[in-house]
Amino acid sequence: MTAPHIHLIYARAANGVIGINNQLPWHLPEDMAFFKQKTTGGTVIMGRKTWDSLPPRFRPLPGRHNVVVTRQADWQPDPASAHVTAAGDVAQALDAARAIGKPVWVIGGAQIYAQALPLADEVWVTEIAQDFAGDAYAPTLGAAWQEASREAHTSASGLPFSFVCYRR
Ligand code: NAP
Repeated sequence: MTAPHIHLIYARAANGVIGINNQLPWHLPEDMAFFKQKTTGGTVIMGRKTWDSLPPRFRPLPGRHNVVVTRQADWQPDPASAHVTAAGDVAQALDAARAIGKPVWVIGGAQIYAQALPLADEVWVTEIAQDFAGDAYAPTLGAAWQEASREAHTSASGLPFSFVCYRR
């Protein structure tokens, strides 16, 4: 049996920043819409800090099974939900996600991207053409990763960004 594809998806600033103080450093509704369109119907894997960063009204992310990676054996989602699975590490999260049989999307944050990248075959990056201050960084895509597509946009707020797909 062929293993389902594993996709990473993130938005990053020109200097590699993806987060600050457990939040996104920017307000980019165009990227939120893109993220929703890509991941809806699939299974999303995230670190416990990224789960915590979601406003309670947006979690679990609707229309997607949510897998949360944590070392806390007694972790429970708040609010409680049948659409959330806790996993003890990234490998366990991927096993749980694959068992569901839907597209698998790794949605952050920095710790989880770094651990999942060696297992992924596609990465969707929203490349924001500006530096931002931050404390969480995108993984480094090595030479094996080739750009497969690029779509340039400018946000309603005037921020240039591109949706870029890398494959290997
Ligand atoms: P994270 O990756 O979201 O979560 C880290 C947590 O995951 C750890 O504290 C631990 O949870 C758990 N974990 C990590 N490795 C594990 C392992 N091997 N086994 C078991 N559990 C493990 O945190 P982060 O790196 O600080 O990233 C959060 C930042 O990224 C925020 O600023 C967020 O806004 C940003 N972000 C940005 C994007 C974007 O597209 N720009 C997307 C997502 C997130 P416990 O402490 O519970 O054990």
